[in-house]
Amino acid sequence: MVLVGKSSIQKTYYDILSVKEDATYEEIRASYKSAVLNSHPDKLHNITETSDHPHELEVRFLNVRKAWEILGDSKTRALYDHELRDSRQDIDTAEDISLDEMTMEDVGEVVELFYQCRCGDYFAIDSEELKEMGYRLDSGGNKAVLNRPDSLPTSVILPCGSCSLKIRLMINTQC
Ligand SMILES: [Zn+2]
Repeated sequence: MVLVGKSSIQKTYYDILSVKEDATYEEIRASYKSAVLNSHPDKLHNITETSDHPHELEVRFLNVRKAWEILGDSKTRALYDHELRDSRQDIDTAEDISLDEMTMEDVGEVVELFYQCRCGDYFAIDSEELKEMGYRLDSGGNKAVLNRPDSLPTSVILPCGSCSLKIRLMINTQC
């Protein structure tokens, strides 16, 4: 298995396993198995002498294993996909804002968060959506705090309700 040379671009775990981003679990597993067979350090003894880059192969093996850890589990894969999407939206985001800058409105069960867009409409998200993503909004007292397990990305992209602008809500790790 040869990885296509895209060294200037950060490889995704999908690239590392040579699978499409919409690959099924079975496809990812099959690709992982063949990647392991081709890069496992134990299998390299015979070819190490002929290879100029034994270290490179070892790094590849570790990357393959890491990619499988993330993509082989539907939960961590979903989080990774989310992070990947966010990182690709970098250019489109108008600005970074913190939770403190958002307007909060308690509407019974959920807390809605708003931030006005320059078009007049709002960027919005509610505590229920945040909870589904794994973040916990604590709005007790006079200061709201978003709690985030270590495995989650540190920001959430919010699209405007009307225009194509997006903002990045930065999530602090304070507990
Ligand atoms: Zn807008």
